Amino acid sequence: MRRNLAIVLRASAWLAAGIVTAALASIACAQSALPQASAADRAEALAIFKQLIEINTTDTPEGSVTAGTAAMEKRFLDAGFPPDDVQLLGPDPRKQNLVVRFRAAGTPAEKPVLFLCHMDVVQALRSDWSTDPFQFVEKDGYYYGRGTQDMKESDAVLVATFLRLHREGYQPKRDLILALTADEENGKFNGARWLVAQHRDLVDAAYVINPDSGGVELDHGRPVVAAVEATEKVYADFQVAATNRGGHSSLPRPDNAIYELMAALNKLAVYTFPFELNDVTRSYFRNLAARETGQTAKDMRAILANPPDTAAIARLSTEPAFNANFRTTCVATRLNAGHANNALPQTAEATVNCRIFPGHSPEELRRQLVALFDDPKLTVKYISNEGAVLDTAPERKAISPPAPIPAVFEPLTRITDAIWPGTPVMPVMENGASDSVYFAQAGIPCYGYSAVAMERDDVRAHGQDERLPVDSYWKSLDFFYAFAKALGRE
Ligand SMILES: [Zn+2]
Repeated sequence: MRRNLAIVLRASAWLAAGIVTAALASIACAQSALPQASAADRAEALAIFKQLIEINTTDTPEGSVTAGTAAMEKRFLDAGFPPDDVQLLGPDPRKQNLVVRFRAAGTPAEKPVLFLCHMDVVQALRSDWSTDPFQFVEKDGYYYGRGTQDMKESDAVLVATFLRLHREGYQPKRDLILALTADEENGKFNGARWLVAQHRDLVDAAYVINPDSGGVELDHGRPVVAAVEATEKVYADFQVAATNRGGHSSLPRPDNAIYELMAALNKLAVYTFPFELNDVTRSYFRNLAARETGQTAKDMRAILANPPDTAAIARLSTEPAFNANFRTTCVATRLNAGHANNALPQTAEATVNCRIFPGHSPEELRRQLVALFDDPKLTVKYISNEGAVLDTAPERKAISPPAPIPAVFEPLTRITDAIWPGTPVMPVMENGASDSVYFAQAGIPCYGYSAVAMERDDVRAHGQDERLPVDSYWKSLDFFYAFAKALGRE
């Protein structure tokens, strides 16, 4: 599920960021260049990318995640990785996950680092595309194919990086783990969730790097920001329902399921959840304030004050992306009511979709909605991921994120700057949700960063004619080679 980076910088801020970039360009010239991949390394990385794009890993009768993970398993075994360190496993024959452990030399000094990459892709129809979505096509400076943005480019980069480091005889000081997983996009066998629940020992880590989010945002080829997802909101659907004995529509009464539901939804429409910050969003707004100008910059500083300025919160709340970044949001997304034009409605139901600020549980939200509606005739139930309607919601709170770990951000910033000089690195809270959530719930910090540079207006993940700039693939390869070594503590 790779999304638009959703970094909200206004035109003035892009300009300011550009000035920073220009000012730092001269400094960057003095920096030592990153190690370059050899022609053979690049040929292998490209062959892996092509192979993965051409294996259909959709959750359809034609698709198989196992075909993709098994092909990568073969590459690791052929390269001489010990079979015990290359595990193909999962709850369904077509949804096997691959977990590869690149072992430390001797006794590791620290817990492992896990690179988490989903192997499945969203369905793509040949009739919708200019090219065959399951053929790897290079055209006009782009690689085309389903998964070129989400996220087989990163799968291929990480596989190629592990193989190259192994070939070079690299010995990390801690274990590096790569998990290629099933059913992030669709399907019942989410590999990340299953691995955490069933094989924690295989994927336990000091922290997770998940290239399914974050990355470098380009504006007409110019890098403007490198966003790192340092936490994310929690997704929850609720069903709000009113029931009534009904009757003939020629004899209306004050009690009416539709009116009762509408009264509740009208309360929700004007309700705002409390303003909140955590260490990640605090640093995000502090960073953004430095690049914004005028009232917006003042407001961003004012919400960081103690106590926060309520007028500033109100002004920033008018921008949906800011609003979603400092509070829980709930919004009605579907309605279903009545059974005939000439009958009083016996049922009225709405789906309310909530994006919960870390630190709260879905059940806490459900009770808040009950209190807000304050109508005993209404029910508020939780809709599970599988679509079951349940009286109560999970009690588990999403963990408030720790402050970004310097051991991750120092090398991430340094290597990003070597490739995209002067580009500011910003930890952000993603308003959507990824597989990182299963590790975050298990108490393992997660950082989303693809090191893939994309034009802001060319996000085609899940869409037609998905494509990746050729140059972005090679830069991501350079990034992860240096980053993996840095996290392995060289
Ligand atoms: Zn994805």
